[in-house]
Amino acid sequence: MANTTETGKHVHYADVLLPLPVAGTFTYKVPDQLKFNIAIGKRVIVQFGSKKVYTALVLALHDQAPGQSRLKDILDVVDDRAIVNNRQIQFWEWIASYYMAYPGTVMNTALPSALKLQSESRIMLHPESSLENSILDEKEQVLLEALHNRKSLSIQEASELFKDKNAIPLIKYLIDRSLITVDEEIKDRYRPKIESFVRLTREYQDESKLQEAFDQLDKRAFKQLQILLSYINLTRNSSSAGEEVRRSTLVKSVQASYQQLNQLIRKGILEVHEKVINRLDAPEAVADPDQIILNTIQQSAWKEIKGHFDQKQTVLLHGITSSGKTEIYIKFIEQTLKSGKQVLYLLPEIALTTQIINRLRKYFGDKVGIYHSKYNEHEQVEVWNRVLDTRRKDHYPVVIGARSALFLPFSKLGLVIVDEEHDTSFKQHDPAPRYNARDCAVYLGGLHKSNILLGSATPAFESYHNSQHGKFKLVTLKGRYGDIQTPETHLIDQKKDPRIRQGKSHFSKSLLDAIDQTLKENYQVMLFQNRRGFSLRLECNECHHVPMCINCDISLTYHKQFEQMRCHYCGFHTRIPKQCPECGSHEVFMKGFGTEKLEEELSLLFPENRIRRMDLDSTRSKFSYQKIINEFQERQIDILIGTQMITKGLDFDHVNLVGIMNADSMINFPDFRSYERSFQLMTQVSGRAGRKHKRGHVFIQTYDPFHQVVQYVLNQDYEGFYKSQMQDRLQFKYPPYFRLIQLQLKHRDYQVLNKGAREFADDLRQHLDKTVLGPEYPLVSKIKNWYIKQILVKTDKDSSLAGVKKTILHRIQEFHHHPE
Ligand code: ADP
Ligand code: ZN
Ligand code: ZN
Repeated sequence: MANTTETGKHVHYADVLLPLPVAGTFTYKVPDQLKFNIAIGKRVIVQFGSKKVYTALVLALHDQAPGQSRLKDILDVVDDRAIVNNRQIQFWEWIASYYMAYPGTVMNTALPSALKLQSESRIMLHPESSLENSILDEKEQVLLEALHNRKSLSIQEASELFKDKNAIPLIKYLIDRSLITVDEEIKDRYRPKIESFVRLTREYQDESKLQEAFDQLDKRAFKQLQILLSYINLTRNSSSAGEEVRRSTLVKSVQASYQQLNQLIRKGILEVHEKVINRLDAPEAVADPDQIILNTIQQSAWKEIKGHFDQKQTVLLHGITSSGKTEIYIKFIEQTLKSGKQVLYLLPEIALTTQIINRLRKYFGDKVGIYHSKYNEHEQVEVWNRVLDTRRKDHYPVVIGARSALFLPFSKLGLVIVDEEHDTSFKQHDPAPRYNARDCAVYLGGLHKSNILLGSATPAFESYHNSQHGKFKLVTLKGRYGDIQTPETHLIDQKKDPRIRQGKSHFSKSLLDAIDQTLKENYQVMLFQNRRGFSLRLECNECHHVPMCINCDISLTYHKQFEQMRCHYCGFHTRIPKQCPECGSHEVFMKGFGTEKLEEELSLLFPENRIRRMDLDSTRSKFSYQKIINEFQERQIDILIGTQMITKGLDFDHVNLVGIMNADSMINFPDFRSYERSFQLMTQVSGRAGRKHKRGHVFIQTYDPFHQVVQYVLNQDYEGFYKSQMQDRLQFKYPPYFRLIQLQLKHRDYQVLNKGAREFADDLRQHLDKTVLGPEYPLVSKIKNWYIKQILVKTDKDSSLAGVKKTILHRIQEFHHHPE
């Protein structure tokens, strides 16, 4: 981008990024009439291919004629100001190259959907076009007439009006003559929210004048009278006479119609005006961060971190659960804001934010923006714009968000926090780019020369490894805030418990006793049930047939709530069979157990207590998660049963008992990280117990109480566990010592896939002097009728990753061009 300029005054060419999985950028000509408007970071409309029109993003403007002779023109410029800045573009390019994705694909992930560059643009008549004065040929007439009748057409539909099926030159010509325009829809899918308000006109704000109005409105205008009275009533407490009331509120208050209100407006008594409404209203700060007094442990951690920041070092804060990491974050956020810079606070899942948002808003109020996928597209754009424009009064200098918040248009990040940095949901698995938000955050922070702080009670081994080898600086917080002891952990051997052994219950006697005791003492209980592999399925007692999904290679899960069996991958569902479809036996039983089953059993055992379940099924709607958390916090729930969701960083005051239902299922999950994950999960969920008042208790139910993972959890020995795991990782060539690149091949035809995968793996082996494993079926080998195979490439850390990736990409291209 050596010779490029930010704006287009003197340039002839623009390199644009298309929202498509294609390599590189494409060069277009900038027509004279767009030169003053075009700029880097703005969206433009271009034709790509013979018929399609896309919105693309300008990455460079320059004057060097490319080799190609016949370049197409940019058709239009969408934005008034750049919506993406240079750093973001650099960031996208890095993600694309590191995770082997196309930059256009990264852009699609990065932009909120309302800004998204739609592939199918629509055209419409230009609102200010005057057709009367135009001389039109036949084709033009046909098109304009169609637009007149149908309001808007896609380029595709427009093309179908003509024999040669290519309307683009014509469309371009008409756009140039301002007869048609690209649909507003694409120019601005985002619209500010506008509402109408009603108030007394200036004239009738006068008391006596108002009295006159009442007198005039005789009995026949009874509804109008009611409206007016209601208006007076609604504004009674305000000081000014011209106070406004939401129009809809006023009309609804007396069940009037808008026509009836309009009559008052016509009489000049009331008036209406429109206002842009802030969708994201936030409360003001109510406390000052200076009021937080760090204890001595926190204080010295804070100093250490500060020292590393001054040296521009990335810090890993290893603080046990409830050590008060958040308080330290708040101090650094405060400092960053004072220096006039922005803060990005990443959390693994928005699930967590309910509490954190409240804690941060207490100190930073409406400076804190929130960004996540459950926001609708308009809300997302609003946050985007408020981060983009640092001069706005409602600018957000602090953003809390899940991984997608990485992509917001920050211009001067001063602090990046990745909380619960070990969490696996920072990794996006599908679709591409398959990025890890923690690693991206470190890169992004580097681009901005910002401070970077990763925090966890159970750091990811990769991060801990980095902190042992100089890449990060390690700071530890060993004590819980308030000197409360970490909980006492009890291991329950399920083999020895008669109730469990005989299949009568999921709960051991000791756990049930502990629950009973805790409830009697008026404390709360949390029960953790690992989701993976232990959902409820049906199984025939005679032939052991398990009903499977018809599209995917996975057993169907029983859902009591819907009286259905469902596939968790594709959503396929079916009724519960009365008899085995294989052998006809009527002995079809539930096997395994899910959170639902636990809830059912507990409600029989503790009928007096309030029991709630939190998992994906019970939290589908936007606020249900928040609701359950709030209810639990306010102690309207006694026992909370949940999956992974309840492990994450939540801070409750009255939980004194945590039960981990089946440790083995997570430990034995076939993945090289499953020991690490199990340790993290069990430690994290244990950390919810006994945070405020007295020492808590944790019960772990397992068939293998001497398993090393369970033992390390029991002894709270992170370092020991890390060391022993590192030996395994080295020996079996896993990260952090080796890099893994996983390739996935899919085909609907099983045999084609098998043959292709084998040949491709052999080809890779010939061209890479690296370990190439596979092809192998993954755990779920068929999803939505696509068969899947995986190939794993292991490369040591010393060899060039770029070189390996290049070879792989090259082999993939060759493979596409010369399939056997
Ligand atoms: P972590 O994130 O390390 O698990 P938290 O930040 O949630 O720990 O802190 C645990 C509890 O202790 C929270 O309720 C928090 O408000 C409280 N706490 C921690 N540090 C302080 C402090 N310096 N002053 C007052 N309360 C604190
Ligand atoms: Zn059967
Ligand atoms: Zn399925």
